Amino acid sequence: ATPAATMVGTAIGATHGILFKGGDVLERVRDVDTVVFDKTGTLTEGEMELTDAQVVGARADGAAPVEESDAEGVSEAFLLEVAASAERGSEHPIAQAVVAGAEERGVDVSEPTAFMNVAGKGVRARTDHGTVLVGTPALLRDDDVDPTPADEAREELESQGKTAMLVALDGDLLGVLAVADTVKESAQQAVADLRGRGKTVMLLTGDNERTARAVAGQVGIDPENVRAEVLPDEKADTVESIQSDGSRAMMVGDGVNDAPALAAAFVGVAIGSGTDVAIEAADVTLMRDDPADVLRAINVSEGTLRKIK
Ligand code: ADP
Ligand code: MG
Repeated sequence: ATPAATMVGTAIGATHGILFKGGDVLERVRDVDTVVFDKTGTLTEGEMELTDAQVVGARADGAAPVEESDAEGVSEAFLLEVAASAERGSEHPIAQAVVAGAEERGVDVSEPTAFMNVAGKGVRARTDHGTVLVGTPALLRDDDVDPTPADEAREELESQGKTAMLVALDGDLLGVLAVADTVKESAQQAVADLRGRGKTVMLLTGDNERTARAVAGQVGIDPENVRAEVLPDEKADTVESIQSDGSRAMMVGDGVNDAPALAAAFVGVAIGSGTDVAIEAADVTLMRDDPADVLRAINVSEGTLRKIK
């Protein structure tokens, strides 16, 4: 492209809050044939809310009502207290939803005395009540806690598109919590428009398969184009495997987790409200957090190239 055409394209993008990192990026965007969306914070608002707290497992026998938790039975309030005290150490949106939800329900949330983030799986913490795990079945299995008594409850929540988390205390499964996120208003239309233009649209997430497919269904992404349960350090490899057949992928994401995948993609796109790390790794930043701006970016790129001819 001529410097003049590039300047015009860059300026048009900027009026829509679409920031291209240089003229070569502006030219590359039109060659994208596959758009890979991160789920949380990209297709969804990323504002999670605690929706469910259910006592499951051996300790559920004789479960007491919320106000009357005691040593024999475990109440929902106790389940929430244990989980939220562990999650207070984490800054993950899931953790913030658990803490806020517990506090809204009048639960006393104390600080953990020790805390560890387990990437893509959850948290492990020491609290006043003991050693607490909150997260995926894999997180519990890593510590030899059997997650299967919660399978039915967990799967039911996940098929509703919620993210379910298991809670264990000192080696015992206590129960399951769920948080829900809302799909962005423009997400479904954005996916339909991209597909209408012949782009393959995919979903890439660390979240579990069932939840990912439920959200994919809500926005119109085919089940075979869902890549779920991808650990943070596997996201870049997944993008590379998507591109291994010669596909030119645009990866759209918001999180620290997404930065290596943004760098691996033919074009990396960061959502403007996302983390600095993602924005730094990206070729394009969408300031308005609107999935529809992905197609707008492609349109600007195509328009710029038409002008040169
Ligand atoms: P995403 O790709 O959607 O941003 P992450 O890689 O951050 O997801 O997390 C993957 C999964 O690990 C989550 O869906 C959740 O099940 C679990 N997880 C991560 N962090 C936490 C946490 N702080 N508490 C409970 N579960 C968590
Ligand atoms: Mg994310």
